[in-house]
Amino acid sequence: MSNPIPDSIERVILDEATIEKRVEELATQISKDYAGMHNEDFILVGVLKGSFIFLADLARRLTVPHRVDFIALSSYADKAETTGSVRLIMDTRADMAGRHVLIVEDILDTGYTLDYLYRLFGARKPASLRTCTLLTKPDMRKIEVPVDYLGFEIPNVWVVGYGLDFADRFRTLPYIASLKPRVYEK
Ligand code: 5GP
Ligand code: MG
Repeated sequence: MSNPIPDSIERVILDEATIEKRVEELATQISKDYAGMHNEDFILVGVLKGSFIFLADLARRLTVPHRVDFIALSSYADKAETTGSVRLIMDTRADMAGRHVLIVEDILDTGYTLDYLYRLFGARKPASLRTCTLLTKPDMRKIEVPVDYLGFEIPNVWVVGYGLDFADRFRTLPYIASLKPRVYEK
């Protein structure tokens, strides 16, 4: 399992074992909180593409029945800065009315994405609406949004790996890492 570290990586911020342990803890907490719920009533909504690996690991550790759905959003072009506007690329399929919805996000940065999702999903009258995000960059917030389950706080650097990309690269690295500045400058 020891892949060589690509030349583009500056520093590993969260290694595989650290991520795995925290995902297990989050799954235990979520399983406890949603215990006793019927299968039909609990939907995990992964925010594509960045959350796909986190969602896969989290969902497989849940001990409560659940459904999996996805939404695809875009707020960034192929560069490491926010535009402030969120674009809906692909909507969810499941009916949310009267069901418990848990948004699964990779990282909370300005807060625009989550704010958009709370308004979009809130209008669909779910029984409850919560968020689980693996990472947060607290210094970057433009809008305050509530988070119910949080993996890690990280410093304000662009990170890749474990689903997160830079220009659609590096998503399948098993750890979360920062990039060497020359990668952005290309
Ligand atoms: P927000 O709308 O909160 O500013 O940004 C949330 C989205 O921005 C995340 O879901 C993610 O797609 C992207 N994002 C923010 N920071 C990073 C980062 O450091 N690395 C990567 N790969 N994506 C990020
Ligand atoms: Mg995302």
